[in-house]
Amino acid sequence: MFNYLSTGAQASETPGKGHGSFAIQQITAGTLVACFGGTPLPFVEFATHDLERRNRSIQVDHDTFILGPPSREPGDSINHSCEPNLGLVSATRLVARREIAAGEELTYDYATSDSAPYDEFDCACATPSCRGTIRGNDWSQADIRLRNDGWFSPYLARRIRGLATARSLTKRDAERLLAHFDENPHAAILSALRTTTGLLHASWATARALLTTVDVTVPMQASDASSYDEALSWFNETRGTPLSDPS
Ligand SMILES: [Zn+2]
Repeated sequence: MFNYLSTGAQASETPGKGHGSFAIQQITAGTLVACFGGTPLPFVEFATHDLERRNRSIQVDHDTFILGPPSREPGDSINHSCEPNLGLVSATRLVARREIAAGEELTYDYATSDSAPYDEFDCACATPSCRGTIRGNDWSQADIRLRNDGWFSPYLARRIRGLATARSLTKRDAERLLAHFDENPHAAILSALRTTTGLLHASWATARALLTTVDVTVPMQASDASSYDEALSWFNETRGTPLSDPS
């Protein structure tokens, strides 16, 4: 077994929604209910697997997806709800957000794990706050962030914190970039990328990928020396475009 499901829960078919999981006894708040397991893959590899298996998967980082096991397991079947009773306490562990009664369907809000559009669908949760269509960028909406505060996957929690500090380069930042560029172009450009994404410890791949998602093209490969010059020009001309709060 790659996935864990609490003995207080059981997976079964749900009318109109395929597979789901239900509490079979009262579950107290904070109880570990499910834990996802599988194979971590970047999107280009993840996307080569069939839809059924991708639906039993979870995004755990900007470009990392835990592909579910080859055949369905009980812990694979946690549906989305816009008013969920489970929440993430790590990239893969779901605990009860409140006391759950026997018979309730177990759900979590997919906005707390997803930032890519790999699993978008019309929601059938029928709760008062149902948002109708579930999209990969739901995490960025202010009301959804507020409702799920404290329950986001760590990579999304970091990204949300980053939104508050992401900014264009100041004149001083730009001067520092120029001063350090000749000595170590990679480090100088990475520092500028981190400032403009608000992610102070972001890897090169993450910082560059995030800028690309807001239609800013940083024209470079980390391995291509000439591209650093292009990036330097881009920062000098634009001061970088901050990843401001999209909502
Ligand atoms: Zn809904």
